[in-house]
Amino acid sequence: MDLREQEVDKSALRITPIGGLEEVGRNMTLFEYKDDIIIVDMGLQFPEDDMPGIDYIIPNIEYLKGKEQNIKGIIITHGHLDHVGAISHLAPKLGNPTIYTAALSRGIILKRHEDFPNAPTLDIQVVKKSDKLTLGVFEVEFFHVNHNIPDSMGVVIHTPEGTVMHTGDFKFDHSPIGDEPADLSRIVQLASRDGGVIALLSDSTNAEVPGYTISERQVQEGLDDVIKNAQGRVIAGTFGSLLSRIQELINIAEKYGRKLAVDGYSMRTNVEIAKELGYIKAKRDTLIPIKDVNKYPAEKILIVCTGAQGEGEAVLMRIAHK
Ligand SMILES: [Zn+2]
Repeated sequence: MDLREQEVDKSALRITPIGGLEEVGRNMTLFEYKDDIIIVDMGLQFPEDDMPGIDYIIPNIEYLKGKEQNIKGIIITHGHLDHVGAISHLAPKLGNPTIYTAALSRGIILKRHEDFPNAPTLDIQVVKKSDKLTLGVFEVEFFHVNHNIPDSMGVVIHTPEGTVMHTGDFKFDHSPIGDEPADLSRIVQLASRDGGVIALLSDSTNAEVPGYTISERQVQEGLDDVIKNAQGRVIAGTFGSLLSRIQELINIAEKYGRKLAVDGYSMRTNVEIAKELGYIKAKRDTLIPIKDVNKYPAEKILIVCTGAQGEGEAVLMRIAHK
């Protein structure tokens, strides 16, 4: 049924995912109570194989037409494109509401916004995980979670109907790389106030599979084993935004005296932003430009690039095709 035609109980809390529910990507959820709306995440979705010519898909904001003045803020849980990639398209159309997010996510959003020279400047406020925001009737608090990009946070939304918890993408990692473990005690504390949580919105890949996801610490140990014994040049493919994994590779490169070169536009820019903001740590001479890899012996080089899933245009595929 069309949401706009539906008989709406306006005094109820309404949670409306307009993307990202039971699909990968395009994450965007509305929280609405009377005339107040807040939005959590504003992402894009990458096209499927049967969508030739499509760069990416953004959420349909038809429902928000005419309600722009009700939007009290946009909260961004982390810097992945499926959570931030639609901001430059949609925020200006929604009256450019203030965006609240962590420092790294802000850097990624602003970098992407440079590709939209005609769009208005975004209003982004950096929040700390101890901050509390009042956005219309909503009170918003944050908690730290682990993900494969630093600065990921979950959101607690106190509403007149009760408390809702939105985890963002998360895992609990007791020994993450370059990050603190998820803040379980804060989650417990936030969740147990005001009569508990009336709804939990939870997003964790493979959460249906029994057991635990291994810690990033173990991933690093596995990578260490492979790279320690490698005779020549090592080429590692991963996602451009998987900054925790890139940090692990930097650690290993330094341990075995290899120089690390990053290739792939998205990965290079993300690494630059993260390094500038102190989320990626590398010794001064560890990272080298890709054009310099031939200046070093093969066994002194680790290349990290995009294309881990065989994407046609990504670096790994181009390397494979010489
Ligand atoms: Zn994510």
